[in-house]
Amino acid sequence: MKICVLPGDGIGPEITAEAVRVLKALDLKLELEEGLLGGCAIDAAKDPFPEATQRLAKEADAVLLGAVGGPQWDNNPRELRPERGLLRIRKDLGLFANLRPAILYPELANASTLKPEVVAGLDILIVRELTGDIYFGQPRGIEMRDGERYGFNTMHYSESEIRRILRVAFDAARKRNKKLCSVDKMNVLECTQLWRDVATETAKEYPDVALSHMLVDNAAMQLVKNPKQFDVMVTGNMFGDILSDEASMLTGSIGMLPSASLDANNKGLYEPSHGSAPDIAGKGVANPLATILSAAMMLRYTFGNEASALQIESAVKKVLAQGLRTGDIYEPGTTRVGTREMGDAVLAAL
Ligand code: NAD
Repeated sequence: MKICVLPGDGIGPEITAEAVRVLKALDLKLELEEGLLGGCAIDAAKDPFPEATQRLAKEADAVLLGAVGGPQWDNNPRELRPERGLLRIRKDLGLFANLRPAILYPELANASTLKPEVVAGLDILIVRELTGDIYFGQPRGIEMRDGERYGFNTMHYSESEIRRILRVAFDAARKRNKKLCSVDKMNVLECTQLWRDVATETAKEYPDVALSHMLVDNAAMQLVKNPKQFDVMVTGNMFGDILSDEASMLTGSIGMLPSASLDANNKGLYEPSHGSAPDIAGKGVANPLATILSAAMMLRYTFGNEASALQIESAVKKVLAQGLRTGDIYEPGTTRVGTREMGDAVLAAL
């Protein structure tokens, strides 16, 4: 199992170090190799995604990423910005499926802006298509028509694009509570009528998973009204962009949320949902749990090792139950710890 580790910028190196310690503590045959991505790569090689990293990422079975970016690179030309490295690696690896769990551990229920009884124990997974839809559709642009400016974009999906993301979602649902909700806007958009048709057809391959459909406006409402009705949700690029942010904010704790982006062979890039947090970088106070949980997702989705994934997730739950908190999730009555101590506690719980 070859893993390319890209710590990146800001808190990236601090939090990936803890995830790597956790991976190494498991009795698995892992080969880890580090590379540069983002701002650190611009400084060292004048390229946010240098050739050496491209080779490393291609050869690896999975990539573990910290975060990229920082104010020192904000005024660079577009090609020399850290985020450009992120877009390029996603494209280079053909990552079309984005998986974002939104989990609210009962101990952190107060972190949410919603009532604890609505969100405590929340555990949903949003599967978002990442390479198609209106974000990439042609024709697009702003032009003059009849003496005024006219803006236009094109929503499109082929049935094969829809089927492959649906299969990722059905497979994920199979590993969870076997409930999948497909989100579309079939009442007004033909493109998403096709989405619904293909979802219904694909369901025949998964008789053990219960498929339901929901219109996106209702889905946005249900996510705040009764989010615990969902297990896995699957949707297109634009709806997924919006719903996955909405779902992650239900938890109120950005330092806890992992993510995965997969290709057609389950090769994946795993990273926390948050950024490089330059405001706290180098202080040893960042929450490493989102990155540690990203490593758990890697074991589950790329390496098919559910037992080790669960082992890490249980260790994280145990540490929270012990009352240990980094600053971002701290509340009175709990014990404030730093990045390294949180990593130590997860290792001990493992
Ligand atoms: P951010 O997620 O980095 O930080 C937002 C707030 O959350 C900050 O107050 C930060 O201290 C806190 N925070 C984030 N992660 C935390 C953690 N693990 N533990 C404790 N606190 C944490 O978002 P931002 O401030 O908008 O962006 C900062 C930089 O990160 C920018 O350069 C941005 O482009 C980049 N960014 C990168 C990614 C990525 O690499 N995938 C994603 C988003 C933003």
